Formats: sequence, structure tokens, C-alpha cells
Amino acid sequence: MPELPEIETIRRSLLFLEGKTISRVEVLRPKSVRELTAREFASRLENRKILTLERRGKYLLWQLAGRQTMVVHLRMTGQLLWYPETLPVDKHTAAIWSFQELRGQLRLVDIRTFATINLVPQGEYQSITGLANLSPELLAADYPAPKFWQKLKRRRSPLKSALLDQRLFAGVGNIYADEALFRAKLNPLASAAELSWQDYLRLLAAVRAVLTEGIENHGTTFRNYVDGRGQKGGFQNKLAVYGRRGEACHVCQTPIQRIVVAGRGTFFCPRCQGKATA
Ligand SMILES: [Zn+2]
Repeated sequence: MPELPEIETIRRSLLFLEGKTISRVEVLRPKSVRELTAREFASRLENRKILTLERRGKYLLWQLAGRQTMVVHLRMTGQLLWYPETLPVDKHTAAIWSFQELRGQLRLVDIRTFATINLVPQGEYQSITGLANLSPELLAADYPAPKFWQKLKRRRSPLKSALLDQRLFAGVGNIYADEALFRAKLNPLASAAELSWQDYLRLLAAVRAVLTEGIENHGTTFRNYVDGRGQKGGFQNKLAVYGRRGEACHVCQTPIQRIVVAGRGTFFCPRCQGKATA
């Protein structure tokens, strides 16, 4: 699943669409569009200008003229790709946007079909539960760390599960959670409720570092992630633990282990990341 660095990379690769006007929308998989019929969705978007393309957590927010926002969540396998108009439409294509000023089309291609599109008045995100309840952006300078340490301490769950909770760590997913825990030298099974302020600050710094490096490397391509121009990321070559079961830890040479936490494959170094206190 694309996480914050991948969504941010996609956003940056599609910034050329800012200021462009949507001429035509074709919905090929109506269930991807939430709350509106395909016809309503298309007619509300046609002839509407894209003002800015923003990101919150793993959501892409297209701010449109007339105070409307198109919210896209790619979930498991969704891809937003810029294609020549002449390229045959792939059978997994959910929607196609064409533009007045450009040759080429934006297409949402989604093999697993979990990607979602909402069109809502700007700022009115209550109907999109995940977006309405997101934590502040982790990379924002004014991220309220003390408040979120207190929230974390009320959790009766392992640290790994807490890291995947978008209400606490917006944009973090399975790969960057494991990488951050390794850097912070914290065990994925450690109790969130018992995390000290110092440990929390180390974890937050590690989360921010892996997200920043993920963006700098244009994301992680483990399975099918590519940016809006079809380019793969590079961070998969720099992962310390994720996907490295049985391989030597870069720090201590101990084989990396894989366990399952909250239903998710979790990679860690049993020596560097110590014992779980939970
Ligand atoms: Zn190690």
C-alpha cells in the first residue's frame, strides 16, 4: 500500500495539473466513486479548474474551483497515472480525467479495486471518516508532540499497531513503521502505554527521518507502486529491516526476524530492538 512518501511523490509528479481545467470525466468503475452516481460525479467535475493538489496523510486532495475538493485514496493497489490519450485503456481502469489544455489523460488504475474517490465541499470531510480523524501532519513544524504522546499512552496495544493508527501517525504504513521502530531501537511488541517521553521523542524523530528519506528517494517500490509518470521509487534499496527476513542486520549482523502484529507482517532485529516489555 502506498504510504506518505509514495503519495507525496505522486502528488509532486502531478503538480503540472494545477491550473488546468477538467474537460471530461469517464467513470469505468462506478463503485470507486463514493456517495455520488458516476453521472453526477462527472457532471460536477467537467469544466472545473484544478487550483492546487494537496496531501493529507495518505489522501490526495484536489482543490477545485467553486470550493470543491476531490479526495482520492489509493488504498492497496491504486495508481494515478498520466497517459497518452491514444494508449489503450487497461481493464483495471476505474476513472479517466481529460483536460482542456493538455493532450493526455489522468487515469486511476486499480487491480484490487479498493481505491476510493469522493467529491465534497472544501473542508467538509465528515463523510470521509479516515480523513476527518487524521492526526496532524507528522512533518509539520507545529506537530503537537506532547498531546500525541498522551494519546499514545492511552493505547492498550503494541507500538507497531499504534504506529499504523492514522489518528496517531497520519501517513505511516507497514513499511515505514518497521523502519522507524528499527531506527528508534524500539521493539514492535513493546507497550504503547509504557513509552517514556524520551522514547516517544526518539520514535517521532525516527518516523520523521524515514518519511523524509522516503520522499527524497521517491518512495518505496515493493510491489506495484509508481508515481504519476510511471517511475519507480528508490527507497526499497535502503530498507534496514522491512522485507529482509533472515538477512543480517546492518548494525549487529543478527538475522532479521518476521513476526505478525495486528495481522501485519512485521520485521525487526531481535538484538538491536531489545525485548518487548509488554
Ligand atoms: Zn541488529
